[in-house]
Amino acid sequence: MKVLLGWFGHETNTFSRRKTDFELLTSQDSWEGEEILDTFRGTPSYLGGMIKKADENGIGLIPTFAVENAGPTVTDKCLDYVCDILVKYAKKHLGEYQGICIGLHGAGCSETCDDIEAYTLKKLRDVVGWDMPITITLDLHGNVSQKMCDYADGLFGIKENPHIDYATSGYEAMDALIKAMKGEIKLKTEVVPMPMLVPVTVTKDYEDISNYILQYKKEHGLLDLAFFPGFPYSDTPTTCASVFVTADGSQKDHAQKIAKYIWDRRHKVVNIDSFNSKEAVDEGIKYLKENDTGIFLINEEADNPGAGTPGDGTDLIRAFFKANIKGSAFAYMYDPEVVTKAMKAGVGAKIEIELGGKIEDSNFHGEPIHLEDVLVRSISNGNFVATTPLMKGIPGSFGYTVGLQYKNVQFVVASVQNQTYDDRAFFVGNIDFKQMRLIGLKSSQHFKAFYNQYVDKIIPANPPGLSTRNLKSFEYNRVIRPIYPLDEDVTFDPCNG
Ligand SMILES: [Zn+2]
Repeated sequence: MKVLLGWFGHETNTFSRRKTDFELLTSQDSWEGEEILDTFRGTPSYLGGMIKKADENGIGLIPTFAVENAGPTVTDKCLDYVCDILVKYAKKHLGEYQGICIGLHGAGCSETCDDIEAYTLKKLRDVVGWDMPITITLDLHGNVSQKMCDYADGLFGIKENPHIDYATSGYEAMDALIKAMKGEIKLKTEVVPMPMLVPVTVTKDYEDISNYILQYKKEHGLLDLAFFPGFPYSDTPTTCASVFVTADGSQKDHAQKIAKYIWDRRHKVVNIDSFNSKEAVDEGIKYLKENDTGIFLINEEADNPGAGTPGDGTDLIRAFFKANIKGSAFAYMYDPEVVTKAMKAGVGAKIEIELGGKIEDSNFHGEPIHLEDVLVRSISNGNFVATTPLMKGIPGSFGYTVGLQYKNVQFVVASVQNQTYDDRAFFVGNIDFKQMRLIGLKSSQHFKAFYNQYVDKIIPANPPGLSTRNLKSFEYNRVIRPIYPLDEDVTFDPCNG
């Protein structure tokens, strides 16, 4: 038996004024054919979990294409280009495989398509028909649609945030697929959409709810049961939180019960309050005065490239420069122009730069910062191997990267957009973050999987930005209203209707 294997994920921020073409989609990396197995076997990824289960069961794999990124709306041309690659493999090997297992995201949008996942699945259905089982994995920041449930037989979602369980969902998706291929089960997924938008960062109560659902899933013998907060930065009619259940046959009542359970606790799951950058830095200064040791970390949640923002927002780093604290460092800013200028000048030179604020509307991510006498401390090719538990051992690159210093603040500037998962940006920028006292980075949640063990205090900063948790700052046009917390009086009873 053989399985067609692939990964095509995009988390689309439709509030960005830019577009994602194939070059931007693959800017971090992409893989095709056999190299997918070499790269991902044994890694904590969707594909790592899928490959592990297939290996255990002696199932052959036909690897196709693998890419995931977050960013602005995908161009139709780019969407079709990727689908054409997947379809090329599906057609070439038709007759050799008996099932399809593919990693998707759940919040992908193109210029004319609100649901990249359903679109991709339909392209594959057009090749293989309706009898072949298909299972998919989804990110909990996915906005799950009925169409995804129609085109795929089984949906499997990650539960942890930071996402340390990609491999678990990949493993479960492959396990269920193999059983369906052998005719042992008849897969069915049902979704219950909820009139609720949730910022990407989780609360403590959210973690308790997740544990409750996991226990419920085990007790009822369900193949999967997941609460998806969804992705509030894509403005589409299917953008909302949801609960889905995947089982051997119809089990929708379980999803309805869990949706009711969460709805009754919605005030605990959704938190849209936070510090602005100055308030966050002031908290850091207070901490340093009261404590002689320890690291204080501020994450700029509002400019998290992992949610499709530019990564060149200037608000938090501007507050760092103003505070000018000895032992403060920031990693990293995306700004290829500054990288080029620093590389031309060379290590040891002092340069004048316009830092960041070049990509999106300044109402969201601020104006460029004019700096003189910036010391070039280091130059790197930006290549690294990840240390975060989310993707430990997987190679990546920030592109050419420079370590700079302005007065007391050391900072890293790179030429590939990505959120900060671990210490690798500091590493390639030649900064030892463990010797710093106040550090800043751009991420919402995932960095915690690495940094929790090294820093003493973490607080988020939410200035204006394309991934701020203040959802009321966005102009929603297509989300179905009323919806909590944008609207006051929202009623929802999933068990009756
Ligand atoms: Zn996610």
